[in-house]
Amino acid sequence: MIKKGLSFVVSAPSGAGKTSLCRAVLSEMSTLQFSISHTTRPARSGEVNGQDYFFVDKNTFKTGITTGEFLEWAEVHGNYYGTSKKQLATWRDQGIDVLLDIDTQGAMQLQAASSECIYIYILPPSFDILRQRLENRGSDAPEEIARRLKKAGDEIKCYDRYQYLIINEDLEKAQKNLQAIIFAERSRLKSNTRNWVKERFINHL
Ligand code: 5GP
Repeated sequence: MIKKGLSFVVSAPSGAGKTSLCRAVLSEMSTLQFSISHTTRPARSGEVNGQDYFFVDKNTFKTGITTGEFLEWAEVHGNYYGTSKKQLATWRDQGIDVLLDIDTQGAMQLQAASSECIYIYILPPSFDILRQRLENRGSDAPEEIARRLKKAGDEIKCYDRYQYLIINEDLEKAQKNLQAIIFAERSRLKSNTRNWVKERFINHL
């Protein structure tokens, strides 16, 4: 059966545990590909170019914007982030399912362009827990925490634009939920599956 790859868009406010959740699901599901974004933010320790992100400078990124290289792009915390149009199209055509870890601005751009994606939002159990998680990171200055909390608030207001919501109270449970969504979406009836059933069964009845 010819199948186009599915695109799973995952967004969350900072502190919801989205990165750990995505990593856990990707390590369990070898049939799922992580969409490697381009970013102008410097690599954090342990991050690998071409694996976590494609780390580029601002000029390169801006050229990418003008040449239409990005399916969506956004400025997040002063840095640019974008999804390569070509990369996603290649995976989709090859039938490879992709997980996109992008912010709400990017997700809204994909929706505006009527991109066929499955939209999943992740929330922590409460706003207090979100605040605590951001404060407990320790590395951030108070102004940075305040900025992230404000951004988190703006992000949360977009939750209703997503098709699925996962509350990340327990990583293992959240992981199972995300995997369940992926499995369910893979079984959803679509025009290509309908054609397949027609050819194999309905036309012979
Ligand atoms: P971080 O710098 O912590 O890896 O990511 C910061 C934010 O940028 C996260 O919310 C992440 O989802 C978002 N992000 C990462 N890649 C992309 C992308 O390609 N497009 C958009 N719109 N956001 C992205």
